[in-house]
Amino acid sequence: VAKQKGRNRIQFTQADMNERVEEELFLSQELVNALAMNQLRVAYQPIICLGTLGVAGVEALLRWQHPDLGEVAPDRFIPLAEDTGLIIPIGEWVLREACRQLLAWEEAGQCCPRVSVNLSVAQFRDSNLVSRIVGILAETGIPPGRLCLEVTESTLASDPELAQEVLGSLRRVGISIAVDDFGTGYSSLAYLRQFPLDVLKVDRRFVARIEEDGDDAAITRAVITLARELGLKVVAEGVEKNGQLRLLRQWACSEAQGFLLARPLWGKDIDLSRLLSGLRKRLENHA
Ligand code: C2E
Ligand code: MG
Ligand code: MG
Ligand code: MG
Repeated sequence: VAKQKGRNRIQFTQADMNERVEEELFLSQELVNALAMNQLRVAYQPIICLGTLGVAGVEALLRWQHPDLGEVAPDRFIPLAEDTGLIIPIGEWVLREACRQLLAWEEAGQCCPRVSVNLSVAQFRDSNLVSRIVGILAETGIPPGRLCLEVTESTLASDPELAQEVLGSLRRVGISIAVDDFGTGYSSLAYLRQFPLDVLKVDRRFVARIEEDGDDAAITRAVITLARELGLKVVAEGVEKNGQLRLLRQWACSEAQGFLLARPLWGKDIDLSRLLSGLRKRLENHA
């Protein structure tokens, strides 16, 4: 029976894999047209300054609404966009959209100090990356100081020399750099002084359990302290509970992002000043 069971399971896994490969092939093909067919949108998630309870910035998050499949999650289609090279035009489009949104808020009399855009490793390897970005900033009139680019530890680790060169160029132009999902990769602490960085984003896998798990709390506190001592900002990702926010404020974490504070929203639906007054009112009861 065990043997039969085992064989069935192997067959199931094989069929499952075939299906998965077919699905990915299909998605990759669909993604080719997604941009031209207007299926891509950018959502913005506010990042809140914990000292002042003001909006520190927003993170641009790509969304794909497929006509038949519905919403496809970024964790599914971004790897495909990276493999096919589509991330280059798509990433450029996201950046331009984000800059435009910053201007739109400004014209509406709302202040959003910075916009953060995720950068994938494939974009990093594109030798035109820096000039493309500088071109988009010039074209939209956004000061480079208001743009933050988020890279993961694996991007830094995959080619440290290239990373240092590209980050150096971006930094010299005045763009700031954040390490995303900090603590989940394989980078050593030496990276923190090797690369020109401005922000550490504590991964939400740590933040999620800071109330219950002493180890996660210790790691989060250590990252906050480390960032402060190195003169970097630190953003806690994935804040969902009042208790987490209370601890983060107690530990003097500079900024936070998460569903408790604000979900990712369409640019036109975000009223930054209303968001803040609502947030302050809600948080007063839990301070
Ligand atoms: P990320 O850069 O770490 O973005 C944060 C993710 O956490 C977002 O997922 C956001 O919706 C989610 N999140 C925020 N607050 C909470 C919370 O309180 N609880 C939980 N459970 N989740 C929260 P999303 O939008 O699905 O994006 C997933 C990843 O896809 C991003 O992770 C980023 O690595 C990548 N991504 C998204 N947009 C782009 C893009 O334009 N370019 C590139 N290269 N990657 C992107
Ligand atoms: Mg990010
Ligand atoms: Mg992250
Ligand atoms: Mg992530």
